[in-house]
Amino acid sequence: MQASILAIGDELTLGQCVDTNSAWLAEQLLARSVETREHRTVGDDRAAIAAAIRELAGASDLLLITGGLGPTEDDVTREGLADVLTPGRELVTDEAAVAEIRRWFDGRGSRMPERNLVQALRPETARCLPNPRGTAPGLAAERDGCLIFALPGPPREMQPMFREHVIAALKTAQSDDHVILTAKVNAYGVGESSAAEKIITMTARDRNPLVGTTASEGIISARIRATGTAAEAQRLIDETIERVERAWKPFAFSRSDTALPEAVGRLLRDAGRTVVTAESCTGGWLGKLIVDIPGSSDYYLGGWVTYTNAMKTACLGVEPRLFGEFGAVSEQVAAAMAESALAAGGSDHALSITGIAGPEPSEGGKPAGLVYIGLASRRGDSVETCVRRFRFPGERGTVRDRSCKSALQMLRFELIGEGQRRPMLWEARDVTRSGGKAAGVADGL
Ligand code: ATP
Ligand code: MG
Repeated sequence: MQASILAIGDELTLGQCVDTNSAWLAEQLLARSVETREHRTVGDDRAAIAAAIRELAGASDLLLITGGLGPTEDDVTREGLADVLTPGRELVTDEAAVAEIRRWFDGRGSRMPERNLVQALRPETARCLPNPRGTAPGLAAERDGCLIFALPGPPREMQPMFREHVIAALKTAQSDDHVILTAKVNAYGVGESSAAEKIITMTARDRNPLVGTTASEGIISARIRATGTAAEAQRLIDETIERVERAWKPFAFSRSDTALPEAVGRLLRDAGRTVVTAESCTGGWLGKLIVDIPGSSDYYLGGWVTYTNAMKTACLGVEPRLFGEFGAVSEQVAAAMAESALAAGGSDHALSITGIAGPEPSEGGKPAGLVYIGLASRRGDSVETCVRRFRFPGERGTVRDRSCKSALQMLRFELIGEGQRRPMLWEARDVTRSGGKAAGVADGL
């Protein structure tokens, strides 16, 4: 079954309101094995609406329309739909809808304005769908084998109407022997083109399952879509997820919509390990990402935000001479921050971040985007510390976001036994490692 989605409203075409309805509907349809072939947006213009309905209905099995069902002059979806369904014929009044709209106003202790009666008009061959959450009834019709639904624009009215009326119609129209299943594999620390290269044999556009990569905020995702009988599609999806994960090892951190902080959180919980954070340029962002996950108190003990050198010394005991010798943005300070935080927090791991968020260079010409990330981990009685140096591109927010994600990925590598050998995207090699308490700092002196 192939669907089209038509969003109607001047506020959408003029950019004053973002069309969230279409995305929501497409996602809902896909979850029910209905693929959306086209999204279209037109203004409150009767002829344009009619033309769009005619074309989209002609090319689809299902057409979902939202918006333009209100009582005002500019709401002309009903008329546009009638021009396609019953050309040249007047709209008819739906008595049940009149009663429903009247009841809606009665329930609020007010009289129905005459104007609202237009909302009870429908094309002769359409039926009205009740709208308990507003005054605009929806419309359902069929044209040459295409099911058409017109739903109200406000999402809080549209979504329940979709659930109550459209889903049932989908179930009857669909067969069970053809489903669409989707899945996602997410990775961080690898570039988009290099990630795509690693799965190139899986990304041919005519393949089942279909695999495509997308990048958003540094996260690379493989979107997988398989069709077939339920069992067949599931087998294809499972097999493909595994192949992508293998190709993206060790950077692939989750399936579906699990974000990096949650994936790392699960690993910490499963291993019964804890972490603390010591942040400078990220100002608590890393701690926030970790704490955004419910239940993070199982593994996150707390953190320090030490922005100035004085705070780094006062709270974490970073030796002042390190600032003079190496600067606050240095491997030595990152190592000292992580090791002090580990000792003070009594955790199994400590992450530290010190860098130049930008936009200006700092510390005598160190460039914006230069960030040192430290990870100190307990191994029995000793402590192992690793510091990685990054040069993140982009503006202040991006540098700070990538700093946090890279820190989480470093911790994840540690937890899965990967270690810190593999270079990550934007990393300015080389990795320094050291064993024994505070040896990282001592080595650097
Ligand atoms: P009513 O006028 O009774 O509220 P309607 O069906 O006429 O219902 P519209 O007038 O088109 O709806 O839109 C009302 C509001 O709904 C818009 O101002 C906007 O806030 C929201 N809306 C409409 N279309 C969309 C859309 N595609 N995505 C997100 N919000 C939308
Ligand atoms: Mg409108």
